[in-house]
Amino acid sequence: MTECAVCGRNSNLPRTCRPCRNRIRGLLLGLPEAVVQTWMARHRVQRGTNGERVSASKEAPIPLRMDVLNLLGPSADAVLTGEDQEGPVPVVGVLSAWSDLAAEQTCQKPVSHTVSALTQFLVDHVEWACRQEWVADFAVELEGLLKTLRKVSGIEPVRILLPVTCPTCDLRTMVREEGSGWAAECRYCSVVKLSAREYAQLVAEQAQAVSTPGEV
Ligand SMILES: [Zn+2]
Ligand SMILES: [Zn+2]
Repeated sequence: MTECAVCGRNSNLPRTCRPCRNRIRGLLLGLPEAVVQTWMARHRVQRGTNGERVSASKEAPIPLRMDVLNLLGPSADAVLTGEDQEGPVPVVGVLSAWSDLAAEQTCQKPVSHTVSALTQFLVDHVEWACRQEWVADFAVELEGLLKTLRKVSGIEPVRILLPVTCPTCDLRTMVREEGSGWAAECRYCSVVKLSAREYAQLVAEQAQAVSTPGEV
């Protein structure tokens, strides 16, 4: 048994546990879609005040959102079309730094710096990456990147309230959040993050408590 470098729980795999490995893979797989959503949000939402008519004939340029452009870079189109691009692009910058490190440490050529190529390379090496001493930083940066992309695109992940109570705070605060990679997590207790198997076990325990209330 080793302690997982990402979540701190016991793991029978080196350095990181199975749920964390699956979750990191899930974060990588969710990145291209989050980039597309962010790119779609580059135009400011135009809200006319009540009763005001927007004249189509004036053709004022729609202002672009600087936060989106800063995040995706001036050649963000290339990110989506898969073309090579130049210049500093934060999303690509984060991914390429990790991808280049992985390529160097596994004696391979670096892959092209596009979101699709980089995420694919990192997905292909995720089991290897999860055994490296930098895996905790890698996980934190991927989470941060997805969180930033979601915030800028304004698309909240779907969150389903689950019919169980949190094993730590005992409140009905367990949710399943799209793209988080966890089957269940508590909205208040950051340490409560359950894999599919752990969640099934929790459901079974609580179902038993409901059917035999006298014993609890
Ligand atoms: Zn873990
Ligand atoms: Zn809780």
